[in-house]
Amino acid sequence: MKASKGLISLCYKLVEKFITKRSEKSDNSQPDWLNFTSHKFGNWTWSWAYEIHPSTKKYEITDLKPLCPNCSNELISLSDSFSASKCPACNEQFHNITFWVSTEQILASINDMIKNGTYDNKVNPVI
Ligand SMILES: [Zn+2]
Repeated sequence: MKASKGLISLCYKLVEKFITKRSEKSDNSQPDWLNFTSHKFGNWTWSWAYEIHPSTKKYEITDLKPLCPNCSNELISLSDSFSASKCPACNEQFHNITFWVSTEQILASINDMIKNGTYDNKVNPVI
């Protein structure tokens, strides 16, 4: 009788340890939407990164850039907000990239997709 009681408390301790370890692990793990770093908005595929803001400690979307439809390189902006852009790899220039969808709308869409869980984090930028 005494032995079985000891065994039960040992099992309980192991479970307790296991749960603590698991919760510690989940606290340290990063949200899986951090892998969601590219998506096609309108005719263009855009890529971006995430950065933790130093004062708010919240993730922010940074480096939002359209990708070249020829070679998937990040385009260099020749005007405000990538309306006209150039590919540094194949040298082709593109215009009216943000004519239908502005960068503000894209940022809002990314935020919505993360919030609603409708993002696809399996799609990574084709670089
Ligand atoms: Zn290119």
